Amino acid sequence: MKLNWLQKNGRQKNDLRSRLLTVFIVFGAALLLLLWAMQSVFFEKYYQSSMRRKCKSSMNSISDLYSNSRELDYDSFCDALGSLSTDNDVYFYVEASDGSFAITSAENDKEGKHFSINKNLVSDARKMLINSASGSISFSARDSAGSDMLVYARKVNSEYRRSIHLYAVAYLTPLGPAVGILRSQMLIVTVAVLVLGAILAYLSAKRLAAPIAEMSKSAKALGEGNFDVEFKGADCAEIDELADTLNHAAAQLKAADSLQKDFMANISHDLRTPLTMIKSYAEMIRDLSGDSKEKREEHLGVIIEETDRLADLVSDILELSRVQSGTESFEEKDFDLQQAAEDIFQTYKIMELEGYELHLDTLPEPVMMRGDEARIKQVISNLVSNAVKYSEDDKYVRLYFEADGENRVKFCVEDHGIGVPEDQQDSIWNRYQRSSQRGARSKEGSGLGLSICSEILKRHGALYGLKSTPGEGSVFWFSVEKL
Ligand code: ADP
Repeated sequence: MKLNWLQKNGRQKNDLRSRLLTVFIVFGAALLLLLWAMQSVFFEKYYQSSMRRKCKSSMNSISDLYSNSRELDYDSFCDALGSLSTDNDVYFYVEASDGSFAITSAENDKEGKHFSINKNLVSDARKMLINSASGSISFSARDSAGSDMLVYARKVNSEYRRSIHLYAVAYLTPLGPAVGILRSQMLIVTVAVLVLGAILAYLSAKRLAAPIAEMSKSAKALGEGNFDVEFKGADCAEIDELADTLNHAAAQLKAADSLQKDFMANISHDLRTPLTMIKSYAEMIRDLSGDSKEKREEHLGVIIEETDRLADLVSDILELSRVQSGTESFEEKDFDLQQAAEDIFQTYKIMELEGYELHLDTLPEPVMMRGDEARIKQVISNLVSNAVKYSEDDKYVRLYFEADGENRVKFCVEDHGIGVPEDQQDSIWNRYQRSSQRGARSKEGSGLGLSICSEILKRHGALYGLKSTPGEGSVFWFSVEKL
């Protein structure tokens, strides 16, 4: 079976486990590669740019403090220098541009720990600063001990006091040994991540694959006609949802299957009943009533009535299957629903000769809608025909329209007949469902009329329903969107 499937697909597909494993390994490898690259290529650059940022931002703070404060307390200025220096690992040297004072950020060391070694550096920076047009300079340098450093210098003017030169020096720690240690640690992390990733991928794939394999087994059973199978979920929302959907599909299939069986049973029964009658009455004509014109005509009348019933049943079955299959296209056009109702009403007017009281109440304005006029007329005719059929001795049928919200209109057919019990009001729209409130057999139809109506109305996006009380009558309605 598996081989067939592979042959059919032409290539071998990976199972969930190997797929997840590959994804995990590729993801782990990409992540580690990125970390390695960061370490070896970008680490140094990132460190230098972060030191630059620190130098610049701490110099800005000192400049602001010096140039903007009217009352500058020198002790707190020295404290601020000290704490900015400690926080950012940057050393400061501040001197009055006229040489009248000098402060360093290194506490208790007026010369400054590093500047004492690098007086030349400061004097180089000073020269560059004095000559610079922008009032700020920066450069990299190396001291006599071979340490690299970043040097920033800036002229700071203040309207309150003499201007100063501000120097900031950040020593760049050599990263070589640290990177070496990090690399060896990375190697351990790499191996650990790959092994852990593989184990995790294996376990989670196993956890995901097991319920899916189980579901596929159940789906096969469902395909073979076992509608009682149960699809079990797992601790995963998507798989749970899939199981719910499949359970719902199985329930629907089961319902459709039983409806199909009922349909076949009902249809065979309803086909057989008139056929039996036709056969019996034909035999009666042959054996008994053939010579009596009166009897013969009475029996032939029954045969004709039953033949009509058979023909109606067969044409309803065909009609329903046409509408349900959706193969027949509906002709869309704008038409007046009230006019359509009026046309149907006129065809039923003849029933007044049989004592029926028929009314049609229309709205003052035409009710324009879009759809297949002939199909909608078919629905109206079906509802009116049912109202006539099931109105019993009262023989009252009223067709009327009412507004249904702003954009819709409701068409209603009311009768004061046998009504439909509440628990059957939904099911009578299904094919072959008849209410338990039954009239005489002569009134029975195919039981397909309302389901044909419901199919047509659904395809028009209409809402429909009924309000009914057994023994008091019913109102069957549908509501469509007005143009
Ligand atoms: P039928 O051909 O049997 O009338 P329909 O599909 O048109 O089939 O109707 C289904 C069932 O709904 C009917 O058999 C009947 O029991 C019930 N029904 C339909 N219209 C009415 C009505 N106006 N009053 C009472 N029952 C009705």
